[in-house]
Amino acid sequence: MKIFRTVKETQAFAEKMKREGKTIGLCPTMGALHEGHMTLMRAARAACDIVIASVFVNPTQFGPTEDYDAYPRRFEEDCKKLEAEGVDAVFHPEPSEMYPDGYCTYVNVDGDITHKLCGAQRPIHFRGVATVVTKLMNITRADEAFFGQKDAQQVVVVCRFVSDLNLPVHVNMVPICREENGLARSSRNVYLSPEERKAALILSQSLKKAKVAYEAGEKDVETLKKIVSDSIQTEPIASIDYVDLFSFPDLKPMTMVNKEALLAIAVKINKIRLIDNIILGAK
Ligand code: AMP
Repeated sequence: MKIFRTVKETQAFAEKMKREGKTIGLCPTMGALHEGHMTLMRAARAACDIVIASVFVNPTQFGPTEDYDAYPRRFEEDCKKLEAEGVDAVFHPEPSEMYPDGYCTYVNVDGDITHKLCGAQRPIHFRGVATVVTKLMNITRADEAFFGQKDAQQVVVVCRFVSDLNLPVHVNMVPICREENGLARSSRNVYLSPEERKAALILSQSLKKAKVAYEAGEKDVETLKKIVSDSIQTEPIASIDYVDLFSFPDLKPMTMVNKEALLAIAVKINKIRLIDNIILGAK
């Protein structure tokens, strides 16, 4: 597996692969890789000739009070995992390689889709994501890009700017990978104490309750949201950041679930903010 730290060598590799007629799949990550990330690698491996993973904790998507400095960094372990999945190359730049002196260009998805859910509490987050993903797509000359449903709003935002900017990349959404107990895998799970880990099960359990109710015929959005909130509130160390439901993938408000819908939650377990979601009404 090749390890690239500069834009130039990554682009040169990607261009060589293109000249050989190979298709390129990109899996952007921030590292501290777990089984959830590996499901993206496997999807890319199955669909593309060449798989490029990026490992980059992107400073522009973190707000000033967020966990950029504390975000887990484990590059050596990450490389072992990527190599075991047959990834061809990993791009692991320094922030100064991605944002050199004088850098001042940003991709701003200026619509309602970036202002709700995670965008409401994290005003610059999606600008940072859209900027770095656009750069990564250009650097790796990706034909296919792979993202997890775990960050469903991110998938919506990426699809939007790929379409708006006519980028020649096909976006793939990979289902949420969970532990056997239902907890969505996340790099931030390493922050959880054993007690918090147990409490964090309330996220997936509350969504499951809503899914059962939906499948039994409950289509009213407020009722479904209340089922989730009531369930989360039974856990003393959990506090709700948001419980929301929008049509998917356009993220429009709904009163009844009469088409595909995203039921998404963000919950703090003590100080650790976790997200989870389910898609209802999928065909
Ligand atoms: P991150 O390193 O957290 O930025 O995540 C990189 C990519 O992996 C994103 O597209 C995430 O949605 C995806 N991902 C993270 N956790 C999971 C999971 N549990 N299941 C599926 N995809 C995931």
